[in-house]
Parts: sequence; structure tokens; C-alpha cells
Amino acid sequence: TVSVVLYTSDLRVHDHPPLRAAVQGADEVVPLFVRDPAVDRAGFAAPNRLAFLADCLEDLDRSLRERGGRLVVREGDTVSEVRAVVRQTDADEVHMAAGVTAFARRREARLRGALEEDGCRLYVHDGVVTVVPPGEVVPQNSDHFAVFTPYHRRWAAEPVRVPFAAPRRVCVPSGPRSAPVPRRSAVTDVSPALPAGGETEARKRLGSWLAAHLDAYEERHDDLAGDATSRLSPYLHFGALSATEAVHRAARRGGAGADAFVRQLCWRDFHHQVLAARPEASGADYRSRSGRWRVGGDAEADLAAWREGRTGYPLVDAAMRQLAHEGWMHNRGRLITASFLAKTLCVDWREGAAHFLGLLVDGDVANNQLNWQWVAGTGTDTRPNRVLNPVAQAKRYDPDGRYVRRWVPELAGLDGPAVHEPWRLKGLDRAALAYPDPLVELSEGLARFRRLRGPS
Ligand code: FAD
Repeated sequence: TVSVVLYTSDLRVHDHPPLRAAVQGADEVVPLFVRDPAVDRAGFAAPNRLAFLADCLEDLDRSLRERGGRLVVREGDTVSEVRAVVRQTDADEVHMAAGVTAFARRREARLRGALEEDGCRLYVHDGVVTVVPPGEVVPQNSDHFAVFTPYHRRWAAEPVRVPFAAPRRVCVPSGPRSAPVPRRSAVTDVSPALPAGGETEARKRLGSWLAAHLDAYEERHDDLAGDATSRLSPYLHFGALSATEAVHRAARRGGAGADAFVRQLCWRDFHHQVLAARPEASGADYRSRSGRWRVGGDAEADLAAWREGRTGYPLVDAAMRQLAHEGWMHNRGRLITASFLAKTLCVDWREGAAHFLGLLVDGDVANNQLNWQWVAGTGTDTRPNRVLNPVAQAKRYDPDGRYVRRWVPELAGLDGPAVHEPWRLKGLDRAALAYPDPLVELSEGLARFRRLRGPS
């Protein structure tokens, strides 16, 4: 018998329920990845993610070859390609991970219909992308949790399964032809310091980060210059690392750092369960009382300055430049830059989310769009009108200004926290800085936000 494993956002061999089920149930398995132009049209085709994807696929192919198999890559419509492979190999089962986006759901439904016609069964596995499947814990009277804290309480009480080992052997039939596995070197316009992708890299990073940094995570995760978070988000996004395994291994070590880290992984599940229940929240305001935004010439110019990291607020600019250079930004930077765009410049969160998705290597519909909505006050934050002050935040999370000096070389000559307020410099000192004045005074931004938002 032959089974097909359709890989999507789960590019690994460890802790992979669909691969495990296929290997256990069939003599031969076709591990299949389809490069589908519809995925690119749905917003995936950012160079940073395509480059990282290429690394992940290359690594997956290598792991499968070590187990006697290989990865089969096809190009075209996913449903047509799966169908062609099923017919060619006479497969009777297809296994895949459950997705949460509207796109993934439509693809799954089309595939189910098509395979039924061919007498082939589709198995859609939960617990591959998230730790707790969306919809598994729900409050009374709703299909999802709209508030994080009660969700976290229920989520934390769920049993975490022991991660599955990678299969020792994967026997792939010789029939199905594969397109060449994509190469990172073929992708252009990639951020200069983009990390390397792939499961091997993910597992190395998980092991070394847990050993060296987990214990201090609670105290250090907001320290911008210290850069002490795991940086596992792109691996989790592509499924090169199982979130279940990350939770399991952190929890086994225990302690306050582990609790704080596992709580962040719960945020990931939280946003996934919101998106699964409200797929339209990827573009439309989640709260019915929508935000209101500035539009037109000045707002366009402010948005351009924000994108380019020249707002005149050093921490905002530092974080935006980190994003362009690495394809990644520290969580504290994401909070501050997003709040600044949506609540100080009062520009529509969708503009900011689109810019992030164009660059983030971990750019993810659930996490990006719903974190943006959370910050913009249109989403699940229970205090939608709080505004982060970028100067106060800078002094708190980058107290000696190291993060700003790293990313804004124009200000590298300023010592200590003075780097956060270059406009306070006098006369020639100020004139000597090739750095813009603030786009807007914070008090003015706040008054504008309150005017637009109306009474809360
Ligand atoms: P760690 O601090 O080491 O946390 C471990 C893991 O927990 C992360 O890898 C991530 O998977 C998860 N996590 C942590 N914080 C959050 C959170 N707030 N929401 C959801 N999951 C979280 N994360 C993405 O993965 N993709 C995105 O597109 C994305 N866009 C964001 C946009 C905005 C405006 C904001 C405020 C946050 C966004 N985040 C996104 C969440 C968070 O910033 C990143 O997950 C985190 O910075 C990744 O770094 P890390 O792996 O070192 O995190």
C-alpha cells in the first residue's frame, strides 16, 4: 500500500503525526510538497520567506534521504498535483496537517472532494501546527476565546502529548517525479542577515537556547539589546520545529523561565484559534467597532517614513531597520512600532501588517494580523485605547541605548539614554546630526488618536 503525506506548514520529520501515521499504515510513502502559485498569490511570496522555505525543503529532503526516502516536489495547483501523485502511485490515503487560514480550509475541502472521487481517503491531523487544536478548548456560548487570560488557564490544563520520534525509515516509491528542490540562492532581494532555515538548524537552536537562556527568559525577554529571546518563530512558522516539542522540552526543564516561554507559545495558539473561528479577521477589524484612520497625502508620507525607519523616534527607527536587515524584529520592537503607526500616526493597521508581512521571515497570517489588531485596539486587547509611548518604552527596555546605537548609526555618537531624545540636543550638536525631527509630537499624536477613536 502507498500513502501520500502532503507537507504544508509542517516541514519536519520529528513529531510529525501525518508522517508517523503514513509510515505505520503503508508500505511506501510519498512525502510531497507542492509549490502552488495560489499560495504566492495569497500573500506568501515575500523573498525572505521564500528563501527560508528553500532551506527548509532542502533540509527536509536531506533528512528523508538519510531515512532511505526523498522529498517529491511538484509545481502547480495543489489539488491537481496530489491527485496526479495518488493516481500514479495508486495511493489509498493522503495525510496532512489541519490548517487554520481561510485559504488552507478551502484547499482542504477541495482536496477532500477530489480524492473522494478517486476512492482515496484524506486524513487531516490536528496538533501538528499548534499545541492545542483550534476549537478544542472553548468558553461556554462561543466557538473561541476572545480574551487571552482565560484561554491560557484552560490551555495550560490540557495534557501535552509526548513528541513522536522521527521515523527510522521512509520508503518512497520510485515512480513520482520531482521538480528540483528550490534553492535559497535562486531567491533575490533577501534581507542581508536572514537566518538559515530548516529542521536541523531549528533543533540545534532549540537545544542550545533552552540550555543557555531559558532560565533567564522571564527577566530578559523584553531586553531589546540583550536579544535573549529564542528566535524560534520562523522555524515554528514553517513547522521546521513542532510547537508541542518546544513546550514539552521547556516544561521538562521547569522554572519561571520555562513558564514564561510556554506562555508565549500559548499566545501563538490563542491567535490561531481566533483566526480559525473568524477567518475574516485576517483583513477586517475583529471588534465590530472599527478603528478610524488618517488617509491621504500626509498620512502616506508618515507611513513611508515609518517603513523606512526615519520617523525621528530612535527606537521606532531602530526596530524598523532591524526588520529590513534581518527579516525579523524583537517582540518589544513589534509592539512599539505597531502602536506608533496605528495609535500615534493613526494609520490603518492593515498598512503596517502588510509591510511586516512583506519582510518578516516568520510572517504569519494568524500571528501577524491578530497581533496587529491587538496593538491597534481593533482586536482582542481588553484595553484597546492604551497607547505605548515610544520614548518611555525606549528608556525602559533599552535603558542605556545600546539597541538604538546598533541600528541607527547616525546616533551612534550619543551616549547613554540621551540617544532616545536627540531633539533635546542644542544648537550645533543637534545640527550636526543627520537625523530627522520627530514626525509628530507625542501629545499631538495622542490628541489625534482620541479624536479619531471617540469616547471609549
Ligand atoms: P520568543 O519570545 O522566544 O517566544 C517563543 C515563541 O512564542 C515565538 O517563537 C512565537 O512562536 C511565540 N510567540 C511569542 N510571542 C507571541 C505573540 N505575541 N503572538 C503569537 N506568538 C507569539 N509572531 C510570528 O510568529 N509571526 C508574525 O507574523 C508575528 N507578527 C507580529 C506582529 C506584531 C505587531 C506583534 C506585536 C507581534 C507579532 N508576532 C509574530 C509575535 C512575536 O513578536 C514573535 O513571535 C516573536 O517576536 C518571535 O521571536 P522569538 O521566536 O524570539 O520569540
